[in-house]
Amino acid sequence: MKLEGSCHCRAVTFTVQSASPYPYMRCYCSICRKTAGGGGYAINLGAQRDSLRIEGEDNLAVYRARLDDGSLSTGERNFCRLCGSALWLFDPTWPEFVHPHASAMDTPLPVPPDRVHMMLGSKASWVEPDMRPGDESFDEYPAESLADWHARHGL
Ligand SMILES: [Zn+2]
Ligand SMILES: [Zn+2]
Repeated sequence: MKLEGSCHCRAVTFTVQSASPYPYMRCYCSICRKTAGGGGYAINLGAQRDSLRIEGEDNLAVYRARLDDGSLSTGERNFCRLCGSALWLFDPTWPEFVHPHASAMDTPLPVPPDRVHMMLGSKASWVEPDMRPGDESFDEYPAESLADWHARHGL
């Protein structure tokens, strides 16, 4: 489906085609929590990078997190330098994809039938994951990709 997204101040707007638009994957890692996860986690979608169209690109800034081992994350977290909204993650390790934040979407997203809670080993002490029947949880990353989850659910 075609997704439309924007930052809060609308200095940056974008559209992208997504084959993985269900917002089911909650990441509780400290990077997601601090940069995009006011409730303790962030949700990224899967989308096709070659379909990404950006207006206001001059207002984008990129954050690359420093990891515990001192190296820079390969993930490029794109955000609006004017209002700070987290917009999408791009990682050159998987150059065909971008991962828009569900929180940046203006298009109404489909409600996922169940959810995956990941990086729970890094969650903040005050965060209580909203675990429901059918949900899965992982201390680190799950092996299943965004595309495989959608395929398994027939979506
Ligand atoms: Zn903005
Ligand atoms: Zn994360």
